[in-house]
Amino acid sequence: MRHPKHASAEVGDPILPHATCDFLVIGGGVAGLRAAIGASDSGTVIVLNKGFAQASTSEFAQGGIAAALGEEEAELQSHVQDTLEAGCGLCRPAAVKVLVEEGPRRIRELMAWGAQFDKVGGRFALAQEGAHSHRRILRARGDATGVEIIKTLMRESRKRDTIHFYDGHFAVDLATRRIAGVPTCLGVWALDERLGKVRLFLARGVILATGGAGQVYCRTTNPPVATGDGIAMALRAGVDVEDMEFFQFHPTALSLPAAPSFLLSEAMRGEGAILRNADAKPFLKARHPAAELAPRDVVTRAILDEMTRGRSSHVLLDLTHRDAAFIRGRFPQIYATCLRYGIDITREAIPVAPSAHYLMGGVRSDLDGRTRLARLWAVGETACTGVHGANRLASNSLLEGLVFGARAAQQAGRLIPMASPASGVVARPPCFFPHRSEEDYLLVQKELRDVMWDDVGIIRSRVSLQRAQRRWKAWAWVVREPALTRLALETRNLLMTSAAIMAAALRREESIGAHFRADARGGKPTLRHFGFRQTALGRGVPSFSER
Ligand SMILES: Cc1cc2nc3c(=O)[nH]c(=O)nc-3n(C[C@H](O)[C@H](O)[C@H](O)COP(=O)(O)OP(=O)(O)OC[C@H]3O[C@@H](n4cnc5c(N)ncnc54)[C@H](O)[C@@H]3O)c2cc1C
Repeated sequence: MRHPKHASAEVGDPILPHATCDFLVIGGGVAGLRAAIGASDSGTVIVLNKGFAQASTSEFAQGGIAAALGEEEAELQSHVQDTLEAGCGLCRPAAVKVLVEEGPRRIRELMAWGAQFDKVGGRFALAQEGAHSHRRILRARGDATGVEIIKTLMRESRKRDTIHFYDGHFAVDLATRRIAGVPTCLGVWALDERLGKVRLFLARGVILATGGAGQVYCRTTNPPVATGDGIAMALRAGVDVEDMEFFQFHPTALSLPAAPSFLLSEAMRGEGAILRNADAKPFLKARHPAAELAPRDVVTRAILDEMTRGRSSHVLLDLTHRDAAFIRGRFPQIYATCLRYGIDITREAIPVAPSAHYLMGGVRSDLDGRTRLARLWAVGETACTGVHGANRLASNSLLEGLVFGARAAQQAGRLIPMASPASGVVARPPCFFPHRSEEDYLLVQKELRDVMWDDVGIIRSRVSLQRAQRRWKAWAWVVREPALTRLALETRNLLMTSAAIMAAALRREESIGAHFRADARGGKPTLRHFGFRQTALGRGVPSFSER
């Protein structure tokens, strides 16, 4: 077994001895695991994961994974076309081509590693979701696709003795240095959550795969780990982020006072579920020719209108006209979860409302996941490869994680090792011991989430965005005092990510895709990407320079 190297410890040192490996992967979701497997062919890999329980967003994925599995030209073209249309002209066509053309190979590879996708009569049971022109979504155990994919990737990772998992290691900041005048990533500082101390991980290649940032909003389908850590780390290291104004709100999440914002997959509408307003009337036909299968942003805003008109906290998602046995078999997780909250979805309609779901923007990366910082790659939801544009096509993100995770690993594997990455050359991150209470941080998080929902949510305007920025200033102390606890660090990352979303949303003075400005100027959208780099922290909202 090939182990990563650990330096020897000095007694009483508040910083733990550094560790060295060939490749460092931050995050163990679909993108990180696929990258780790690929990189393991070229050297030792450490996978850092915050927390101790496997809790990636990937495991929550219900609907499935989209792919033109037959690989016929027309099938591939139609997947490309649907993706471009959903992205409203802001996808990078080259990235979409890579996604669609390499996707089937990555899925067959998963199957070779043991993944089981649902079949009916010996053929794959393909599902349909909004904005897909036909059925092309593979699913596993009804609505447990993410679990099946992660289980498969974990099993495959465990077979490789070059991959080492460091759970309970919270990546705090990228370790960078100029080498021959080029800003270069040398590794990562991470908090050992058990010991409360930081350790420097040095590597010849670092792959950022920390997932999304749904936790910036008070209503989100994302798990607690989705705090935008990778984006915030990249911003602090001077790396560009892009398309941050595009946050997808899923139209249908459970809306009950005591229940979490549990996702009710779009595949339910693909199987015929109807959205009804307070008068029990369907309302989507009047809004879009595709009715229930219209793009997510259209459905989301239509629901919001109905909720406002009916003065209700929800609308109703109704699948009761389908056979009960079919519903239980097709959506076992959703059926069981709703039943736990007292709703039998085979007999009654489900109260639903929109919820923050997916960040299309992120760390700007190229077709191989490369970022602006040498030796740093970004993949999965934390990255912005340009495959989603202004709106993600449903079930394209698991595929993106697999395709770009594999490509990044392949590129990183070609890196020439650095002469001697010495720990002494890397500046220590500023670390303070917390002198604020947990309640202080929890209060900031709550206020931030409410402000983000109200002023930077489904519908924004210059006035609301500027109001949000003013509110932000009251929380700036969190960013200036990076205390060494997971709660403090996550609060800082939520604030940094939110600041970038606000700046990008202000910059785009038009409505397009998931970004809807109530004060939009008319005319054709500009179809430009807005990228930002953090320039200064200052005392107020961080400043960003546009790229
Ligand atoms: C409810 C729900 C349903 C969905 N359904 C679908 C679907 O059907 N099809 C589809 O294609 N997409 C779906 N999506 C979106 C998709 O699941 C995600 O976009 C995708 O799984 C993201 O994968 P990832 O590897 O980028 O990130 P994640 O799976 O979130 O993994 C990120 C990992 O990074 C770790 N991490 C984060 N920060 C740090 C840090 N500072 N230090 C160390 N580790 C860190 C986390 O612990 C986690 O393990 C769904 C999303 C949700 C929320």
